[in-house]
Amino acid sequence: MTIRRKIDNETIPKRDIVVADESGKAVTVSLWNDLASITGQELLDMVDSSPIIVIRSLKVSDFQGVSLSTVGKSTLAINPDMPEAQKLRSWYDSEGKGTSMAPIGADMGASRTGGLKSMYSDRVFLSHITSDPTLGQDKPVFFSLNAFISHIKPDQNMWYRACKTCNKKVTDYTLGSGYWCEGCQKNDADCLLRYIMVVKVSDPTGEAWVSVFNEHAEKIIGCSADELDRIRKEVTSAI
Ligand SMILES: [Zn+2]
Repeated sequence: MTIRRKIDNETIPKRDIVVADESGKAVTVSLWNDLASITGQELLDMVDSSPIIVIRSLKVSDFQGVSLSTVGKSTLAINPDMPEAQKLRSWYDSEGKGTSMAPIGADMGASRTGGLKSMYSDRVFLSHITSDPTLGQDKPVFFSLNAFISHIKPDQNMWYRACKTCNKKVTDYTLGSGYWCEGCQKNDADCLLRYIMVVKVSDPTGEAWVSVFNEHAEKIIGCSADELDRIRKEVTSAI
């Protein structure tokens, strides 16, 4: 999931996770940037083992009850080697996993009467999104999906030329060779290719086109966009 930041139109990865502790309460933590794309994916891959996490420096807000959000200096450790983590682990294994966690905050519970049990609590079927054109019109909405990739269009522009410093799109430098980054206000001899790939995904309720950004597209394709472009050039020059 990425969010388009209004101020500069840059997309930022975001991932919501739900955490709980011995209090029997659960709260949503929004992870941003690398914590969302890299650490968040790591957490998702191991969610069935109910990882213990420690996050330092969180922003607290009262959005939908209480919610927490990482900031630039936040750090996140998974299954840290510390007594508190062991205590939490034994609580979770003995009784926590059987408990329905109530969300923190007053009005958040209304639509969540079943309690929040895992980070898949916002998972929906595709039809939930495709059948409601008003979704996301006023403000962005976020969901988790479990779907498979059924098609990747072969003739699309799968990547864009990005600034090596800030990852924003660069243009040809009009005053000479190289690439101009509007964000950094500078010219660079090289640029990076970053995926922005459109794939069709399917689940039992239907299908939809989804944009996949660099880190995730690398996982799907199995190499970087630069590498894929190199292969493509080799193949086309061989023909
Ligand atoms: Zn830049």
